[in-house]
Amino acid sequence: MLESIETRGIVLYNREFREDDKLVKIFTEKSGKRMFFVNHAGKSRLNSMLQPLVTADMLLKINDDGLSYIDDFQDVQVYKKINADLFALSYATYVLALADASIHDNQVDPALFAFLEKTLLLMEEGLDYEVLTNIFEIQILSRFGVILNLHECCFCHRVGLPFDYSFRYSGVLCPDHYDRDERRAHWHPNVLYLLDQFQAVRFSELETISLQAEMKAALRQAIDQLYEEYVGIHLKAKKFIDSLSDWGAIMKDSSGGET
Ligand SMILES: [Zn+2]
Repeated sequence: MLESIETRGIVLYNREFREDDKLVKIFTEKSGKRMFFVNHAGKSRLNSMLQPLVTADMLLKINDDGLSYIDDFQDVQVYKKINADLFALSYATYVLALADASIHDNQVDPALFAFLEKTLLLMEEGLDYEVLTNIFEIQILSRFGVILNLHECCFCHRVGLPFDYSFRYSGVLCPDHYDRDERRAHWHPNVLYLLDQFQAVRFSELETISLQAEMKAALRQAIDQLYEEYVGIHLKAKKFIDSLSDWGAIMKDSSGGET
């Protein structure tokens, strides 16, 4: 049975189907992730709006037993600035893939929807996409069933100290308790301070966050290790970002040589 709904939705991806049809995966606010069938997509006025990231108020026909259908898109956000910047676009694509991987089809998660849309809007506004991605990665860990104690020492529960991370205890150790794990991560205390902030950050505070390249690299490495240990997914979009950072370093070197 088809149920008509109005909901905000974000296009995750599309793929060609048969001759001129398309299958489009959309993350909807009210009905979770669903696959939509677009008949004769090439002739459809919606065709240009079926691209990844496109966010809109959608009129949809939801089918619980199979493919759903799109009636209309309104109030469409296409993220022009993100799409014009290869780096921003790569990070936005990764955030989208991460959201996609973190929930099952048809699972309703309006909080994740709101968080994803806000993250994309802030990237579009020009806020630091690397930091926004890190915050997204840390806050979405709970969707993968991962709860880390980044706030207080696992042993004495004190807060606000120069912590290190322990994979053995899935949490932080204060200097008095570093010795409880001889294989502690040896991360910079500022990395753990920031990860703790990222777990609870409010969007209103984001505009003030500005980080040095070195600290960003340390964060990237720490979060990669957390994902490797606790999540274990390997997204194509993430591999692309990793290759971009090598390429970005080459670009910087060559531009530095000219000045
Ligand atoms: Zn302690």
